[in-house]
Amino acid sequence: MNKLPIKIKISLLFTALMTIIVVAAFVVLLLVGERLAINATQDDLVRLVTESRTDIEYEYGVLDFDDDLKFYENGVSLSVYNAAGQLLYGRQPVGLTPSDLPLAHAEMRIVGEGPARYCVYDMHYQQEGYGSLWVRGVLPTDSTNTAFVALMRLTAVILPILIVIGAISSYFVARSALKPVRRITQTAGNIADGGDLSQRISLGDGKDEIYALAATFDHMLDRLQHAFDKERQFTSDASHELRTPVSVIIAQCELALSSIESVDELYDALESVLEQARQVSTLIAHLLAFARADSNGASAHMETVNISELARSAAEQASEIAQVSGITLEADIEPGLKVFGDETLLVRMMWNLLENSVKYGNMNGVTTFMLRSDKDHIVGTVTDNGIGVAEEHLDKIWERFYRVDQSRSTDGFGLGLPMARYIAKAHGGSILATSTPGLGSVFTFKLPR
Ligand code: ADP
Repeated sequence: MNKLPIKIKISLLFTALMTIIVVAAFVVLLLVGERLAINATQDDLVRLVTESRTDIEYEYGVLDFDDDLKFYENGVSLSVYNAAGQLLYGRQPVGLTPSDLPLAHAEMRIVGEGPARYCVYDMHYQQEGYGSLWVRGVLPTDSTNTAFVALMRLTAVILPILIVIGAISSYFVARSALKPVRRITQTAGNIADGGDLSQRISLGDGKDEIYALAATFDHMLDRLQHAFDKERQFTSDASHELRTPVSVIIAQCELALSSIESVDELYDALESVLEQARQVSTLIAHLLAFARADSNGASAHMETVNISELARSAAEQASEIAQVSGITLEADIEPGLKVFGDETLLVRMMWNLLENSVKYGNMNGVTTFMLRSDKDHIVGTVTDNGIGVAEEHLDKIWERFYRVDQSRSTDGFGLGLPMARYIAKAHGGSILATSTPGLGSVFTFKLPR
């Protein structure tokens, strides 16, 4: 049974159920129908016997039987007797004369066996001028069975036809209902075979469960494709970033080996190699940080930490590089603020913002670092009066490897802000930037308390 396709299973189940219901309905109908048919024919018998009285008259000393009085009508045989049981009119029913079966007024009797079974009904009344008269009606039970037998025959023909029609239609209904499932299977199969994540089931707008399943499947494919594209982009960007310093290192080494004549030239070449190697090392450190964050999330070292202290130490470190650039760093940190988080990641997030405010600040500028709390959040802002970010770049600076001005951020890879946002999100928080080019920027992070 498990090997059968679902549409066949559904049609089989439906057909079996339908057969049971139809058979049960017919059995009930036949039982009730037979009873009703017997009652109806017996009623007929009583009516014919009772009505016959109106067709009998006594005139001029003679009993007159009207032409309307038929001794055989609708299967009923009528016979009229006098008080002594002598036949006056009609045909004597074989074996059912008053001497065989005494007359009995207004009693429905069923006599005989098998095919010779009869319903017998007698009526006694006083004919004006004449005296006692009996009318006997006899009806073979065969005629009550005729309707029943006809119904049986009809049943025997209609039942299989109904079942066949039901089976065929249930097969087609199941087939069309399950058509979307075939599409889902086909799409999943195509993706599995060819790895083409751009395929979609696209069933369109429908309300049933299968449409919902297909929409969820498509949505999942969207997300998967997005994740794969991002991953691919990241790898390609990372390779690109690594290739430049490595090419410089190779070129400098080749130059040094082939054509350097003085120690000074060799010294310069080595310095250049060292600088590029440092770049490579920084980039590798960033990539490693991302790889770790991606594989562990931030949950690996979550604990309650005093973020005020972390902010203070980040600000102290940042003020050292700020001093070199002639930038004043002012820290305004509410003491004793606690969050549930990863100490190393939180320091990295604040450091990335502070470092940027120095990197993109103006000589003799000011950076303000403020940490406050409201009812539900810890809110940190890093404000600088540096070069600012133009409106069209504000969304993009959060993308990995995005730099507004490549020439200005020679020692950056465009990974600091994406990392900061990643950390904020991993802590259930958010981070955003507002900026006015030429006037400065404000970076604000919010973490749940
Ligand atoms: P980078 O390592 O290049 O600094 P980030 O991801 O930290 O990478 O920043 C991305 C880009 O956003 C930077 O290249 C820079 O153009 C811009 N940016 C970031 N912070 C600031 C800031 N405080 N002021 C002006 N521009 C900024």
